[in-house]
Amino acid sequence: MLEKMAEFNQEKVIDEFEATTKAAERVQIETLKKILEENGSAEYLQNLGLNGRTDPESFKNCVPLVTHKELEPFIQRIADGDSSPILTGKPITTISLSSGTTQGKPKFVPFNDELMESTMQIYRTSFAFRNKEFPLGNGKSLQFIYSSKQFKTKGGLAAGTATTNLFRNSQVKASMKAIQFQPCSPDEVIFGPDFHQSLYCHLLCGLIFRDEVEFIFSTFAHSIMHAFKTFELVWEELCTDIREGVLSSRVTDPSVRVAVSKLLKPNPELADLISNKCSGLSNWYRLVPELFPNAKYIYGIMTGSMEPYLKKLRHYAGELPLLSADYGASEGWIGANVNPKLPPELATFSILPNIGFFEFLPLRENIEYQEPDFLCMEPKPVGLTEVKIGEDYEIIVTNFAGFYRYRLGDVVKVMGFHNSTPELKFVCRRNLLLTINIDKTTEKDLQLAVEEAGKVLGEEKVEVVDFTSHVDSSTEPGHYVVFWEISGEASVEVLKECCNCLDRSFLDAGYVSSRKVKAIGALELRVVRRGTFQKILDHYLGLGGAVSQFKTPRCVGPANNLVLQILCGNVVESYFSGAF
Ligand code: AMP
Repeated sequence: MLEKMAEFNQEKVIDEFEATTKAAERVQIETLKKILEENGSAEYLQNLGLNGRTDPESFKNCVPLVTHKELEPFIQRIADGDSSPILTGKPITTISLSSGTTQGKPKFVPFNDELMESTMQIYRTSFAFRNKEFPLGNGKSLQFIYSSKQFKTKGGLAAGTATTNLFRNSQVKASMKAIQFQPCSPDEVIFGPDFHQSLYCHLLCGLIFRDEVEFIFSTFAHSIMHAFKTFELVWEELCTDIREGVLSSRVTDPSVRVAVSKLLKPNPELADLISNKCSGLSNWYRLVPELFPNAKYIYGIMTGSMEPYLKKLRHYAGELPLLSADYGASEGWIGANVNPKLPPELATFSILPNIGFFEFLPLRENIEYQEPDFLCMEPKPVGLTEVKIGEDYEIIVTNFAGFYRYRLGDVVKVMGFHNSTPELKFVCRRNLLLTINIDKTTEKDLQLAVEEAGKVLGEEKVEVVDFTSHVDSSTEPGHYVVFWEISGEASVEVLKECCNCLDRSFLDAGYVSSRKVKAIGALELRVVRRGTFQKILDHYLGLGGAVSQFKTPRCVGPANNLVLQILCGNVVESYFSGAF
């Protein structure tokens, strides 16, 4: 099937998507049937008493909602080499590592051909719509993609991040080529053992092919921003390499050196051109279109925890559009962005009804019925076509990779429908809450508060580079701590005002009322040393994560002790709010 995908027919892909989404309800029933038929022999399903039934009602009655924790023992057995049908009919031969930024350590999840196919289906679908609006020629793309360290599990299964598992697959490569994902960099750079060397070489290869680069890509926007920040530091060295045709000694890995050196010839004209362009820029504004005059857009996931990087990306991008990519997880894909013209802040994801069976746990009710206790019933999940516009839900996935009624842990809002499939906006991770008393602060609330306080800081021409938060319950009462890395020096008065502004900007009613009665202590703003968030990134890479999948944890809980240590060990100043 993947071989067939290598031929790309834009209109056909769009027509298929329209037909599938028009018949979303029927397609959901058929997809569930297919999943249960293909995997009916799996021990997990056998034990649940479905007895061959494949209809949604029986499925919901027999199969419990689960999280990764409940599946862990099954996945561990797979990883340990038990090749009996445990979660899927066909044995799982590869394990993916999710980024694990929430829990502090990567999670194991099964990876199989079906997951690969649905990934390609999502990519092809969004590409078809994107290419209609922003057609590409036959050029290349500058892709900041990296492989994680790969290793074998105890049972001998290959394990790496989901993106790594994808990039390594030759059929995926062919399909990616068909949708214009032709990287400037050779494979040796993508799979290089050292992220810093790979990044340097990606930049170099991008410059060598600068006229051919048609778009800039990374899975998550953070990597794109990080790459251009690095460019600011190494551009002169890159120019020297291009001028002399000799690769910098900072690239030490032999295979990467050989591969990149082959592309490098002395080119003083190009070096002068880039050097002049860089020198002529004001604070690196419009860096990307200056470097890549034929680039049509920048592409990557820019929603959710990536939104705080948009400002910086827009600065580098100038007039070049930022196109937000699709929505999924290592566990499986959910939806494609088929409205690429919308700015990332408004991006939605249309669910592909044939890649899984989707249910939605209403969250509004959940909150309303919390008190008193006897009313505290979990609301019933609703089906794909039963969701209501404007409501928030936790998404529940059943798919071909061994997940049955799996709580992904993400909160989404239904913004509308594409035919009869919902268009979702990503809201936040459900478990990323700062909570001390009756307050419930989400990742989104934190992001908005940081945006507000960032405006105060902006008056001094200083920016928030990155941020995270923590609940400090070692004080009585406990209080919120917000960690900031900032781009320059700011006065004590301004930082105090930022701290007050943060405290005032958490609008959750539980927070405000608890602050007023001092059931929650004064918010603390801790400014950390420059480079602290780079240390956190390095820490995740050390755990086997890949930069392409990195998401800064926006709330550091007790399970994430090592990250907390990095943060606390790098605090340079701290302020308490006087807002209440
Ligand atoms: P991972 O655990 O590394 O597989 O990352 C998956 C998680 O990344 C999802 O559960 C979401 O929380 C987040 N994510 C993935 N795609 C998007 C998106 N388009 N917008 C916002 N967050 C996303």
